[in-house]
Amino acid sequence: MSAPVPRLSPSVEDYLKAVFALTRRDEAAATSALAESLGVQPSSVTGMVKRLAGDGLLEHVPYRGVSLTDRGRHEALRILRRHRVLETYLTERLGFAWDDVHDEAERLEHAASDRLIEAMADALGDPSHDPHGAPIPTASGEIEPMDFPSLAQCVPGERVTVRAVPDEHGDELRAMEARGLRPGVRVTIQEWGHGDGPVTIRVGGDGAPTTTVSVDLARRILVAQGDEP
Ligand SMILES: [Zn+2]
Repeated sequence: MSAPVPRLSPSVEDYLKAVFALTRRDEAAATSALAESLGVQPSSVTGMVKRLAGDGLLEHVPYRGVSLTDRGRHEALRILRRHRVLETYLTERLGFAWDDVHDEAERLEHAASDRLIEAMADALGDPSHDPHGAPIPTASGEIEPMDFPSLAQCVPGERVTVRAVPDEHGDELRAMEARGLRPGVRVTIQEWGHGDGPVTIRVGGDGAPTTTVSVDLARRILVAQGDEP
């Protein structure tokens, strides 16, 4: 083991996490997209990006924005591990509801030591996914790819299994909970609404009642198609 790595500041950690999320499908994160996801002005992003590039955490992709260096990616995965282990511990061991853990984890991820996180992961039996279905990076920095299609990419009649749901909004999670929509549940697409109208789905087996979700939410629910578990 090398000497302990000095901790990054909470705002640096949030930048790295945001770039990681934005570059999951794209090569680079544009400054404007980064500003939007962090809820800050584009002008303040420019300065921070310069600083993080100077620190070897980000690199510029000409005309496209920024991407993480290997070191930046490693740090982003450490923060994601902290976040997701915390969410899992809060729900499994402390009785928090799944709609009530994201904001706690957003705060604690910057404060919890790696030692505390590893003790929590140990106590949980080293979980592979958080309560919302997102993969937990390993302590050595590997993460299962999340290249699943969204519910919005499915066609009527198709049967799929929910793999992950968005976790940022408590009200959305409560609405999904009320519909029985959680990771591992089977869903059949019944019909698409007109234009951007809601999608009608059946949650559970053939006799289960139908319900609707907005197209916006359907785009953010990841599913496994066919008979994949
Ligand atoms: Zn979360």
